[in-house]
Amino acid sequence: MSELGSGRGNGSARDGSSARSEVFTLLGDEFEEVAFGHDAGIGLRAIVAIHSTVLGPGLGGVRFHPYDSETDALVDVLRLARGMTYKHAVAGLDTGGGKAVIIGDPATDWSPALIEAYARFVDGLGGRYLTAEDVGTTQADMDVIRQITPYVTGTSPDLGGSGDPSPATAWGVLWSMRAVGERLWDEPSLRGRRVVVIGVGKVGTALVDHLVREGAEVTVSDVDPLAVQRVVEQHGVASVSPERAHTVACDILSPCALGAALDSRSIPMLECRAICGAANNQLAEPDDGDRLVSAGVLYVPDYVANAGGIINISEEGGGYDQARAYARIEGILETTHQVFDRAELWGLTPAQAADRLAEERIAGAQTARSGG
Ligand code: NAD
Repeated sequence: MSELGSGRGNGSARDGSSARSEVFTLLGDEFEEVAFGHDAGIGLRAIVAIHSTVLGPGLGGVRFHPYDSETDALVDVLRLARGMTYKHAVAGLDTGGGKAVIIGDPATDWSPALIEAYARFVDGLGGRYLTAEDVGTTQADMDVIRQITPYVTGTSPDLGGSGDPSPATAWGVLWSMRAVGERLWDEPSLRGRRVVVIGVGKVGTALVDHLVREGAEVTVSDVDPLAVQRVVEQHGVASVSPERAHTVACDILSPCALGAALDSRSIPMLECRAICGAANNQLAEPDDGDRLVSAGVLYVPDYVANAGGIINISEEGGGYDQARAYARIEGILETTHQVFDRAELWGLTPAQAADRLAEERIAGAQTARSGG
């Protein structure tokens, strides 16, 4: 296995000097480290981006995806790694921002040898990056990686891990919704509240379970008709087509599918009082946060609402205890209130306030670290 480039503030690409200059332009001075893992024989092409280790080692999942180009993969891993720094900082975790991508189609390119090669690549980073499951990778992959390196989280409980983070993520979204309830209706209970869940995959399904148990009136939507059918049959909830889901009159709209669903086209069509869901990067662009404020919609920043999974993973150190982890996840209620409070105090949107809270915590840790 040969690494194409690895070092602090360093990185390199395979495809010539123009790509190389593009890589360094993309990096700017923000990222601590970007490493490229390459194994031609096995077919591994992977990138690890470590955005910040000020609060602790860079922790974040590995996404296995057939990117159109290596530049697309690099842009994605940088964006995701930066997002993890902010998510961990606001959630109060002692971990930094990191992320990895494997370029390829998991349906056709996956092999145990490829996952092992990826594990050796992660191991070579010496613990500055801790990997985890993400889109296109599974808990079984994390178990394979664990055979080679300790720098992995979310393995099966048999191996000391906390398993699939999705139920924990759903638990956190539920508690964030309770903060919305307290804010808008002086009532944390979601009984009788109309909630539309868009995307009933791993997180969405677990969230619907909680909402139905609590007595909410749930409507679900998904591009996969079988996913909708499963949830409707299990819970007797209503369903709506993905094209219409964001236009349904409701109390809380919960995006639990893909990102960038909130934009200048969809926001004017919203008929909800609040948005609180698991999907990453829900706002297509920063101005959409202002558009939501103007539309009178209370928005819980995505990385505040969906931190349950990563909080759960962070509890693995020192022996995982689910009851303790879930109690900590419930703290997302207070974090959500804190973001709303700061947004009001600072005259910012909730998304801007969450970013500022994260930046303040990192700056404080940086000052403490440098003895200032
Ligand atoms: P998943 O792949 O299991 O589920 C996503 C679901 O969304 C699928 O059923 C898919 O068919 C559906 N979908 C895709 N496009 C859609 C569209 N346009 N309209 C309606 N439905 C659509 O993924 P997941 O693990 O449940 O994660 C959901 C979201 O939450 C993702 O954005 C993920 O990045 C984010 N997230 C997940 C976790 C976690 O612990 N799994 C943690 C943090 C954030």
